[in-house]
Amino acid sequence: MSGDALGARWRSVALALGECTMADCAELLAGPTPIVILPVGSTEPHGPHLPLATDAILSEECARRAARSLRERGASAVCAPAIAYGVTRYAEGFAGAITVSEPALVAYITAVIEGLRGAGFALVCVTNHHLEPEHVTAVERAVNAARDSVGGVVFANQLTRRWGRTLSHEFKRGACHAGSYESSLVQAARPELVREDLRAALPDVDISLSAAIREGKHNFAAMGLTMAYAGEPREASATAGEALYDKLVEMIAAECLEALGLAAPPAEPAKK
Ligand SMILES: [Zn+2]
Repeated sequence: MSGDALGARWRSVALALGECTMADCAELLAGPTPIVILPVGSTEPHGPHLPLATDAILSEECARRAARSLRERGASAVCAPAIAYGVTRYAEGFAGAITVSEPALVAYITAVIEGLRGAGFALVCVTNHHLEPEHVTAVERAVNAARDSVGGVVFANQLTRRWGRTLSHEFKRGACHAGSYESSLVQAARPELVREDLRAALPDVDISLSAAIREGKHNFAAMGLTMAYAGEPREASATAGEALYDKLVEMIAAECLEALGLAAPPAEPAKK
């Protein structure tokens, strides 16, 4: 069957697993290689202008768009309900920072991946938009643990060299907490959640989080993020957000198709 015909087969099935009925899910699982994309985020402050759920919203939007893209390529794919809590110690002291411990997060993500595999999905692809290093390490540990126990899991990680270099200048500089990168992505996905009057008036905060972390600073206050953002939120636009989603969707789709042996990895394996 061609990709077009397969895409048509799932057109009436919701892109979000949580919106599917039992019959819809059975239809997806009957696909040749059913893929489920698991969004991981956090609940934490994102400047004065973005919602606490920003990271989960971005991961979910990427997962939904990637599921659509994979269906268009002939694969059965769906976006799982998000894991919306993470390790968020950097934002401590600001209202709305809800952190969980690393062992709890690792165990929970591992169990969710195992559950999705047990339900019949051939591949679980994890996508994450909370980039605090301890949180990313916890996600990696969960993916590795699930790979050992049930296999069929991949982490589409934009922090790797292969994918990070495809993203925006601000992202690559590491000055990207609730700046133009994340603001653009929320504007493109959920414009009604951006406080536009505040965003347009915010001054640039030229502080690289990655450099501050290397200097041993481990929270926003020590880094000088007095309003829980860094970067250039006033430069954000929905158009820039759409272009970023295209790159992030390509990352997820490529990681899935390569993990299933349906696409060749790049000739020169990219170093992390
Ligand atoms: Zn974020």
